[in-house]
Amino acid sequence: MPERVRQLRARIAAAAERAGRSADSVTLLAVAKTQPAALIRAAAAQGVRDIAESYLDEALGKLAVLEDLPLTWHFIGRLQGNKTRPVAERFAWVHGIDRLRIAQRLSAQRPFHAPALNVCIQVNLAAEASKGGVPPAQLPAFAGQLAALPRLKLRGLMCIAPEEADPARQRQWFAQLRQLQERLNGGGAHLDTLSMGMSGDFESAILEGATVVRIGTALFGPRPAKGR
Ligand SMILES: *Cc1c(COP(=O)(O)O)cnc(C)c1O
Repeated sequence: MPERVRQLRARIAAAAERAGRSADSVTLLAVAKTQPAALIRAAAAQGVRDIAESYLDEALGKLAVLEDLPLTWHFIGRLQGNKTRPVAERFAWVHGIDRLRIAQRLSAQRPFHAPALNVCIQVNLAAEASKGGVPPAQLPAFAGQLAALPRLKLRGLMCIAPEEADPARQRQWFAQLRQLQERLNGGGAHLDTLSMGMSGDFESAILEGATVVRIGTALFGPRPAKGR
């Protein structure tokens, strides 16, 4: 684990440098879905602080076991309406917001003593049926609706880019997400987070302005099979 974390940080730093950005402008978000708590603990020992989970029941078990660690938990999975409360109560971030109903529930269920829940809107750039996310054309209206929810803090945009073997084509998707964010900010929003880039494409994402890269396999190795 120490060597994996070191190599990953070096790749992130190199991509940031190519982009003329500082390495610490990119947060390494460790995607731990299906991985055991012991691996998260090992990553935390190397200074990894941001942990992402996709499956709620599994995540809650790990949260309980790792309570002693100073971790920031991000939910990145698809959220069902009847499962929002534990997310509102236990997580600091939700990436992948694409339905107003879910956002309303999260806002209503966020405990009053906790800071507002940080959220990113998932955008479906290529209209892929297999992926969630709002179409770019609906983004301004949706962002406006979210901004009105008192216990959410809209931080930025998130995407899962279409698979592209060619890095230049990868970059185009990430550039699109950045431009959508710039447009929202030009219209008065204050978004500071671009959650984009995974194990296979995070360098392209950093070149286009990613501030959070969501990395699973390049950090923890292949995921144990789980059929989801
Ligand atoms: C699983 C997952 C990742 C990490 O994918 P890797 O290719 O293993 O890095 C990132 N984002 C989301 C939304 C995921 O579900």
